[in-house]
Amino acid sequence: MKIGILGGGIAGVSVALALRKQGYTPRVYERRAQPSTMGAGVTLWPNASFVLKELGLLQDIEAIGGRPMTMRRQDNALGGLDIALLDRTMGYPTYTVLRRHLQEVLLDHAARAGIPVEFGHRAVAIELDAYGKAVVHFENGASTRPDLLIGADGRMDSVARKFVAGYNTPSYQGFVNWIGVAQGPDALAGDMAIQDFLGGERFGCVSVRPDLVYWAAAQARPLSEAIPAADMRNEVEDLFAEWPEPVARIILATPVNAIRLITVHGLEPLNAWRRANVLLVGDAAHAPLPTSGQGACQALEDAWHLARCLDSASGGLDEVFQAFAKIRATKTARLAEQGRVFARGLFATDPETCRIRNERAKASDPMHDVQVLAAEWGQGLPMPSCIGSTSVEGGGFGSLYRIE
Ligand SMILES: Cc1cc2nc3c(=O)[nH]c(=O)nc-3n(C[C@H](O)[C@H](O)[C@H](O)COP(=O)(O)OP(=O)(O)OC[C@H]3O[C@@H](n4cnc5c(N)ncnc54)[C@H](O)[C@@H]3O)c2cc1C
Repeated sequence: MKIGILGGGIAGVSVALALRKQGYTPRVYERRAQPSTMGAGVTLWPNASFVLKELGLLQDIEAIGGRPMTMRRQDNALGGLDIALLDRTMGYPTYTVLRRHLQEVLLDHAARAGIPVEFGHRAVAIELDAYGKAVVHFENGASTRPDLLIGADGRMDSVARKFVAGYNTPSYQGFVNWIGVAQGPDALAGDMAIQDFLGGERFGCVSVRPDLVYWAAAQARPLSEAIPAADMRNEVEDLFAEWPEPVARIILATPVNAIRLITVHGLEPLNAWRRANVLLVGDAAHAPLPTSGQGACQALEDAWHLARCLDSASGGLDEVFQAFAKIRATKTARLAEQGRVFARGLFATDPETCRIRNERAKASDPMHDVQVLAAEWGQGLPMPSCIGSTSVEGGGFGSLYRIE
């Protein structure tokens, strides 16, 4: 079977690796001329590590990644998360990695597995041929007509999503993220932690090593004012000038050209992720807001499940697509919703709302939080936290800053 994959991001390359392991020979088409060096970092929670291990990548991730032990909200004034306990409960480690390093590992394994990644191939349209099969046209004049086309071309302007749903209109979520990577000669953060600070705005920072920290700052803003400043570091420094350490230290240790402004957009859930022989995966199918902390992890899970669905189906692509949606729809929809709930709680400024939010965060039970996250994130995977587990009431990160 000829398999084409649109998009060489986390979803596209991991799907290619998972399918290659099952004996398929997929080909990846990526719009960029070369591997991306953009972006800050991602946290790969234990459910992602499970997939990375299955794909044979975990050792390489360990070599480039950090092992966070704890997550602190407002220096623990609003509680936190015992990541070491979460890892033990789920049976796999959490890693923090720079996005470009993760991409390098994925592409290195793709090269070793003999998977062609065609850079400089921006899909501009997909149409059906006379036999009802999708044909992809690229900006450079090339085209391809695979038996199975996987749309892994992200959230913002996915051509595959447009083909499947008939439209693709990400909607602005009312806040911006500045993202950056700070590197210092000395330790920037005291320990291997994920730290979260709130105060109308939000500043989150994640250690990969004590001297290498990626961060995301967030502020509610109308889209018309979401324009990158000439000196973004200056802008972020001013905005967070009065915040507790290590915020200022981390911003100062970030090169000006390593800061990027993202206008955070979301996508409405789709009723179906497929049309004809095209299937959406990753953000193109079910992009959660960055506040879910699970987008890349879910892209990796898609890869693992899709390979298994293809392997076990006997009745053609319809059966594969149905099985895939049955396994993936509920979990990804729940995580996306939790990301939205979390985002609503973050930017509250009304004192009463903030009081309720903070009281709830403080009152959360650390053991219960770990149990909830382990059950939710492990759902559908053969991980220790899932085997024999019954559902636990809660709501991912969303429950940590719940306001409704
Ligand atoms: C600030 C921020 C922090 C985040 N933190 C985390 C985290 O800690 N943990 C986590 O799990 N997730 C996190 N995420 C979410 C995660 O980054 C995404 O969910 C993940 O990257 C989705 O992978 P993807 O491959 O589906 O999409 P993408 O990473 O967007 O990749 C899509 C690829 O398709 C290519 N492409 C696009 N259009 C075309 C086209 N027309 N033709 C060919 N190629 C095309 C793009 O160039 C790109 O390479 C975060 C996101 C943000 C914004």
